[in-house]
Amino acid sequence: MKREPSTIETLHIYDTLQRTVAPVLSRDGSTFRIYCCGPTVYRDAHVGNLRTFLLSDLVRRTLEFSGKKVQLVQNITDVGHMSEDFEEDKVLSQSRLEQRDPFAIARDYEGRFHADLKSINVIPADAYPRASECIDMMIKHIKRLLELDFAYVGDDSSVYFDAAKFGDYGALSGNRLDALKPGHRYEYSEDGAKRFHADWALWKAAGNRTEMIWQTPWGPGFPGWHIECSAMSLHYLDGYVDLHIGGIDLRFPHHENERAQSNPLTGDEAVSLWLHGEHLLFEGRKMSKSAGNVVLLRDVIARGIDPLAVRMCFLENRYRSQMDLSWQSIEASFAWLQRMRAKYQEWSDAKVATTTHTQSSVAAIYRDFCDDLDTPRAMLKLRALEKSEEFSPGEKARIIEEVDSLFGLNLMAQQSDSDLPAEAISLLEARIAARAARDFSRSDELRDQLAEMGIEVRDTSAGQSWSRISRLR
Ligand code: AMP
Ligand code: ZN
Repeated sequence: MKREPSTIETLHIYDTLQRTVAPVLSRDGSTFRIYCCGPTVYRDAHVGNLRTFLLSDLVRRTLEFSGKKVQLVQNITDVGHMSEDFEEDKVLSQSRLEQRDPFAIARDYEGRFHADLKSINVIPADAYPRASECIDMMIKHIKRLLELDFAYVGDDSSVYFDAAKFGDYGALSGNRLDALKPGHRYEYSEDGAKRFHADWALWKAAGNRTEMIWQTPWGPGFPGWHIECSAMSLHYLDGYVDLHIGGIDLRFPHHENERAQSNPLTGDEAVSLWLHGEHLLFEGRKMSKSAGNVVLLRDVIARGIDPLAVRMCFLENRYRSQMDLSWQSIEASFAWLQRMRAKYQEWSDAKVATTTHTQSSVAAIYRDFCDDLDTPRAMLKLRALEKSEEFSPGEKARIIEEVDSLFGLNLMAQQSDSDLPAEAISLLEARIAARAARDFSRSDELRDQLAEMGIEVRDTSAGQSWSRISRLR
């Protein structure tokens, strides 16, 4: 929707390279080309990963709110991402564990990744290229880096990036080459074939590996993880990236190396801005498989909680700060969501037009999003609506209708009976029948039973409505 000029603001974000808050601009003046590092599909994405994936959705929603055009690409890493511990391809080691074809595993987890994004209302990217289907463009880019003398073929037939040739190495992460110690662990072990310990493999010779390998002028092998993102971002976004997004741990070495590869290919700064999201902790510790505190979206759903409660928890925290999630905060957000949705149904009964008064409240919320995605401040404003005496119920409904596309919380959603257990549905039906028969004491009794189950019933002009007041027992 195109907004009035008075409400149009420019989105600013913290740029890791310049170390300052900077405006997000479109280089061609019309489309915002955005690349967000996607999942490695050897396991389910945990809610920490989802916090990072939500970041590109918040950027997109903010830009689109003022009618801007966004082209978002997110890759699917199904080959080449090596585990730090065993230096083995993550998808291949999972394939050994599950005794299944590596590509079958990758497709399964890719499907589950899309389902998770849908559950937390992430608008799909415009393209989800798979690394294994972009090998040709990687080979093309590696050939070009060899021609430009930024890469060399090692004694082991792997192709390495010559880190010392990229004079600005370290500008993104602060890890300058002269300060990096030999033996620092990258994706690949020291094998004597590199000229310098900080060089990394653009293409890795197959060695004993027989699966997930491709033929190249340097022999059979597989791509390095960093070249995947250089190749896919430059190919799908037509030669440059306005904004590149990922979790903070990708700053080094992944993005530092990507920048060193992409800049010589484009002869320019390939990425205008780098946006990094901080990590999610769960009950005090960084969420990770190794810490054993992984929470999946399906764990949330299994507790009868709307997954958008997790989205709301993320919105309550600024992307640049670490945040601690707990079951308590997820449940509190869920209770609020239910209450707000029920309120909206009540408020929307009043037929009130949009006014300059409601528009100024919408604009204030939008400004918070533009201000380096200050979603906690925007959430405060949204929460304040509930008790506000400044706006009439009808005006509150109009504001929610406008800003829901920014928050993505489905605040106008009607409660659906399909979300409820069969027992609750029959109690609700029995209560409708009791009221129709003017049996008010039976109706009150049923109300109490439903409240016991965590369901609050109200009688409105449109009939009986309900909301969850705590998770279902
Ligand atoms: P992966 O599938 O491991 O490649 O990770 C996908 C994305 O999730 C990357 O952008 C990571 O930086 C990000 N990530 C990993 N762990 C966390 C966490 N605990 N909190 C937030 N983001 C994370
Ligand atoms: Zn990447």
